[in-house]
Amino acid sequence: MLRRVLYIDLSDGESWVEVGDDLFEEWLGGCGVATQLLLKECPAGVDPLSPDSPIILAIGPLSAIFPVMTKTVAMFKSPLTGELGESYAGGRLAMALRFAGHEAVVIRGRAEKPSYISIRDDEVSIKDASSIWGINALRTGVILRDAEAGVGRRSIIRIGPAGEAQIPFSCVTVDTYRHFGRLGLGALFGSKNLKALVVSGTEDVSIPDPGRYRKVYNVLHRLVVKTDAMEKYHDLGTAININVLNQLKGLPTWNFKSSTFPHAEAISGENLADNYLIRKISCAHCPIGCIHIAMLKTSFAPHHEFEVRRISYDFELIYSLGSNLGVTTPEGLLELIEACERLGIDAISAGVVLGWATEAFENGLITSKETLGLDLVWDSVPFYVEALERMVAMPNEFYSAMAKGVEYASGRYGGREFAMALGKNEVPGYHTGPGTIVGLTVGVRHSHLDNGGYSLDQKAVKDGLDPEKMVDALINEDDSRGVFNSLVGCLFARGVYTSERIVDALLSIGIEKNAEDLELLGARIFKERYRFKTREGFDLASSRIPHRFYKTASPLGLIEPETVEGMLRLYRQKRGM
Ligand code: SF4
Repeated sequence: MLRRVLYIDLSDGESWVEVGDDLFEEWLGGCGVATQLLLKECPAGVDPLSPDSPIILAIGPLSAIFPVMTKTVAMFKSPLTGELGESYAGGRLAMALRFAGHEAVVIRGRAEKPSYISIRDDEVSIKDASSIWGINALRTGVILRDAEAGVGRRSIIRIGPAGEAQIPFSCVTVDTYRHFGRLGLGALFGSKNLKALVVSGTEDVSIPDPGRYRKVYNVLHRLVVKTDAMEKYHDLGTAININVLNQLKGLPTWNFKSSTFPHAEAISGENLADNYLIRKISCAHCPIGCIHIAMLKTSFAPHHEFEVRRISYDFELIYSLGSNLGVTTPEGLLELIEACERLGIDAISAGVVLGWATEAFENGLITSKETLGLDLVWDSVPFYVEALERMVAMPNEFYSAMAKGVEYASGRYGGREFAMALGKNEVPGYHTGPGTIVGLTVGVRHSHLDNGGYSLDQKAVKDGLDPEKMVDALINEDDSRGVFNSLVGCLFARGVYTSERIVDALLSIGIEKNAEDLELLGARIFKERYRFKTREGFDLASSRIPHRFYKTASPLGLIEPETVEGMLRLYRQKRGM
């Protein structure tokens, strides 16, 4: 299996392939390889939205060959944080890249006019997208499905109006209901005049020892489907966490003013499953089907019949656009999720920015003069939908500030203490304790998925809080997830892919690594990602922690600033930072 990197330059329309065997041998694939490509291709200090700022996409050696190895990593310089942009998406993209024969793609330059890239195996075309520029992310997918019909295993990724407007937390929609959500990849697409990328693959994958491969595959497949390792993701999906966290007193509500929500039951995974769920679907090469689709039936127009919209939901969306905004009905929640889908905007960031704006409105920091007449109060769903649209249209200075993220908006209008970002990235839905706060602050992309600090807090509720043990566990998770993210598996399957099973799977396709190699690799990949972060100006020692975290009770009671500061100091010492 040749391990190839496809380069595309939008400025001159050139493309070429380089065989990267040494690169993949040393860094495995996925985030390991993408980090090296980013360090090499992205000039230090570059404006993230300039033509010189590259987009790197990468899959891993097991992608579309083993079950639940479904993700693609995107790496770039984030326009939201100004440092490492790293985002993962499922859908069909990893499969399409595998069968097109490319393990990584580097896109640079800027097209002269709105364009989209079509990759069909080795053939790359840059096509005119003027007629779809301005069209929302959902509709764009439908149009490109027709335009690019016919060949191989295909994936369509595209931006909506938010990406076109280069909003720093705009996302890239992948196939149906998947996204490169966080840290603003959509803005890089927009800055390159790149509306979409369509990948179609028709090649075969050759396996050196099919007998051995089949044996390992069967073990992993059985663990995925015949044990309880991934059961919860299929049943209620991650939405199950709404009731769980609410009962634990860790569900962020009204912009983290509370950690319980009196209306949690209405927007819970259980209620959505009982009354709105119509389908569950999967990423390609995953037998789980955790993507939950709800039906929203609304009147098409006054005096007209109903229209039906299909909207995907999960825990993070229910938190950011539900409890965090005090939204009390599933219909209101689904309307807001769909608005983010249409605009192509990261739903976590959007919900956190709206949460800050609602509280700023409540406190008089902003008035209807800034909001242009919208009364942004909790649960005001129609106004929130309008505010999201204005954030993208940017009709005045206030909406332009919101469009730059909560860190910027609160710097301009006040309310820093309740501007819920860590590492300048709007926070996900856990007010569980110091593990979350420290984990999000130190994580390479400031995501709950970097090191799972929220689950350490939940363990501490049972076993008691030991800050040093927690810091050690965060470091271990950061490193071991670096390896898993180099295979680019779905993190929901990380319990299935133990180190021994990863070694077996790699060996069955001819890649020799042992458990110790993988452990060392995880630590090296972490350092390399931090090398990019610090090169671009990130300084862990001067991280801002919003005061609100210390004012609202968590499952571990009120969190002491000294505990968090002590853990951050310990983390830096142990990492030698
Ligand atoms: S578990 Fe869900 S997110 Fe993960 S690969 Fe399967 S369908 Fe995709």
